[in-house]
Amino acid sequence: MNHKEKYQNIINELISKSFPELKNEKIKVMEFPNIFPLAESFSTKSFRNYYIFINKKCTKRNLSALKGQLVHELCHIILDYTNKGFCSSFWHLNKKNLSVAFNTKFSRKIENKTDRETIKRGYAKQRYRLALDWEKIFKKKLLNNSLYPRGYLTPEQIKSYAKKSRKW
Ligand SMILES: [Zn+2]
Repeated sequence: MNHKEKYQNIINELISKSFPELKNEKIKVMEFPNIFPLAESFSTKSFRNYYIFINKKCTKRNLSALKGQLVHELCHIILDYTNKGFCSSFWHLNKKNLSVAFNTKFSRKIENKTDRETIKRGYAKQRYRLALDWEKIFKKKLLNNSLYPRGYLTPEQIKSYAKKSRKW
């Protein structure tokens, strides 16, 4: 089984367990080379398909953290999909991706909401594993100056939000 098939299987399993709204959607996984080390994954839409792009380096990720990452991406799709209904379009999602990439304030709102949704869906522990991974991979300065200001929850924030919402 290649990486793409492995991701696809995990996504199918996550959808059937926790994302009934996405049951009839086509979601494809694409890998991209590790030329943007900070960009680990993102999702987008083109016509009737959703795409989850994932950095090649993530193949080494442990299964639990990988699930946390993929659930985060599925939550991005859900939040855009349910907010925009059938008007959700290629242009909207790509405008979102550009804004997330270049506008820290916008990114903070989006990523924060997406992480909270990940926890609400019951994947706090997996998202926590991913956050611990990031603490190992990325330098402290990068985490504090780049990643966390962009709205991603720290391990402590994940745990405390999950406990507050009875999801730990
Ligand atoms: Zn995200």
